[in-house]
Amino acid sequence: MASPGSHTFRSLPAQIDLPATEHQILAFWEEQDIFAKSVSARDGAPSWTFYEGPPTANGSPGTHHIEARVFKDLFPRYQTMKGKQVIRKAGWDCHGLPVEIAVEKELGFSGKGDIEKYGIAAFNEKCRESVQRHVDEFTSMTRRMGFWVDFDEAYWTMSPEYVESVWWSLQQIWKKGLLVQDHRVAPYCPRCGTGLSDHELAQGYETVTDPSVYIRFPATSGVIAELGASFLVWTTTPWTLVSNTAIAVNPKVEYQVCEIPNGEGVERLVIASNLAHVLGEDRKVIATFQGSELEKITYQRPLDLIEIPDSHFIVLADYVTIEDGTGLVHQSPAFGADDLLVCRRYGLPVVNPMAPDGTFLPEVPLVGGVFFKEADKTLVRELKSRGVLFRQLQFEHSYPHCWRCHTPLMYYAQPSWYIRTTAIKEQLLAQNAKTDWHPETIKTGRYGDWLENNIDWAISRNRYWGTPLPLWRCPENHLHCVGSLAELSDLSGKDVTATDPHRPFVDDITFACPECSQTMTRVSEVIDCWYDSGAMPFAQWGYPHKEGSAQALEQAYPADFICEAIDQTRGWFYTLMTIGTLVFDESSYKTVLCLGHILDKDGRKMSKHLGNVLQPIPLMDQHGADAVRWYMLAAGSPWSARRVGHDALSDVVRKTLLTYWNTRRSHSLHRTYLRDLPYRDADSRSLLSVCLRWNWCLDDDAGNY
Ligand SMILES: [Zn+2]
Ligand SMILES: [Zn+2]
Repeated sequence: MASPGSHTFRSLPAQIDLPATEHQILAFWEEQDIFAKSVSARDGAPSWTFYEGPPTANGSPGTHHIEARVFKDLFPRYQTMKGKQVIRKAGWDCHGLPVEIAVEKELGFSGKGDIEKYGIAAFNEKCRESVQRHVDEFTSMTRRMGFWVDFDEAYWTMSPEYVESVWWSLQQIWKKGLLVQDHRVAPYCPRCGTGLSDHELAQGYETVTDPSVYIRFPATSGVIAELGASFLVWTTTPWTLVSNTAIAVNPKVEYQVCEIPNGEGVERLVIASNLAHVLGEDRKVIATFQGSELEKITYQRPLDLIEIPDSHFIVLADYVTIEDGTGLVHQSPAFGADDLLVCRRYGLPVVNPMAPDGTFLPEVPLVGGVFFKEADKTLVRELKSRGVLFRQLQFEHSYPHCWRCHTPLMYYAQPSWYIRTTAIKEQLLAQNAKTDWHPETIKTGRYGDWLENNIDWAISRNRYWGTPLPLWRCPENHLHCVGSLAELSDLSGKDVTATDPHRPFVDDITFACPECSQTMTRVSEVIDCWYDSGAMPFAQWGYPHKEGSAQALEQAYPADFICEAIDQTRGWFYTLMTIGTLVFDESSYKTVLCLGHILDKDGRKMSKHLGNVLQPIPLMDQHGADAVRWYMLAAGSPWSARRVGHDALSDVVRKTLLTYWNTRRSHSLHRTYLRDLPYRDADSRSLLSVCLRWNWCLDDDAGNY
């Protein structure tokens, strides 16, 4: 922070209380409206566009929020100094699971049942209050750290004009035929009772240890049964064996029937030839087959707890690899996207024994009412007692968890609304190619890979506090996508322009189907809150409904610069680029800076659980905001991790800020001496100028001159 009036050489005290000085400077900025002046002073100058990534107002701000805000402050200030005008509109991400879960916690709720009982209107009101409260905390933190951003003109993703703008954009996508409903296997959080998108999935991987089991499936027909062999299957999700429907083999892979010792006797197992080493050195090859020769051979399933008619045979699937496992993949079509595709091709039934809360249906023997992950133990014991467990290991792997509530996710067959991002993949790749990434490696690495493997965006959520999906449907399944409250007024024949465009109020609005005249009602879903934040380039202006929004958008699209933590690569950075490309055929940003993670002093993630979280305001009150800002800026390249601790910050105060202060103080002192020295004392003058040049700053000595 620049000190007010610093270009006059007043004498400075030897001791400085950095936090107190900062408060004086902040007060000066506020009183004199310095930020607004710094922007208006550049009226008419070329603009440099910055987008504020809206923090989710679901909790108190953390130290990592300071990091992003430091960089988001630095570049706009620098560009302002270079003569550009930099509008900095604050923004708040108000909707979605993060807020709902925080409110559920406050109210002591354990799931959707509690919310429905409480009432959607009352629940959403609580969400709105919670957002307001947390925004206040973010505002104080932002002011305290000296981040210049315009709160008065902030955009709120829950404001009616913002919601209407999002509706308009969805209508554009709808008109292009890219918003569709489909029944697919998708990641699903059983606690939150909703499906999640692929990029949300990417936010929540955690390392866990699961049982990894090798199971015998005895063949009951064909050549394999004649040889008395069993198919050997490997899985890390024993709970899905309850709904085993088929076994997939790769038609192009070679499989062996191997004989191995088993107790007193021998047994025969079918395994991919390349993976047969799993069976040990003593194996004897009895026969080999191409995968394609095994098709339709029936087997006896390991668990028969539920009815699955006309199934349990070998199917062929190209996706089966021989990288790990046995080269035979057990199929459970309700819980695997590949499984569903393959089983559909064979006309196999999709049987789902799970309730939406992730527990087995009460009527399932042995594990009825048990949460899917917790059923593994019981099921493995059962497999053992049935003599079909060949081997059991513990397997450490990265498993997807809900990015908000940390519940392990399931892959679950469910109807969802999708944006067909796969249809614009080439366009996305082209937009990415011209984007200036920092660090550069993200373009072809983390982000480029993500685009290469793009799958459609699951946009709907079976939840409450979010932008309602603006789709109305009649009993004949005709659909209508609404783009504004004005349009909804026209359709319904009554003025609903002042209606809160949230649930449950919009759910009450109905109109006659333009095609068949039957009543159209809104579908029940709300949308992914990541869509909201990705729509901010135009929704922050209320485009296209609000007056002046077209002009504002034209001046500020695309952004010259955005900057957030690296974990936004598959979050905000993705949704921004995707929505921009879907709606305007052009990404909404040119340059993006990815920041490293914030860790504690020992390099661990900060978490409540570890008790190592540093709160931003106390940190700034103790060391000063400048110390924290300096550390965030200077502790390595922007994308390397920052280890934040009191020692590191004290070091900044001592080595950097106080050194600077003393230099500055010495400078002001010597300027005074210099002015007062007699002209003839050229030696003294030259000595002093040398001292100044060398930043000589030993106060006591300097005072003796
Ligand atoms: Zn969840
Ligand atoms: Zn109709």
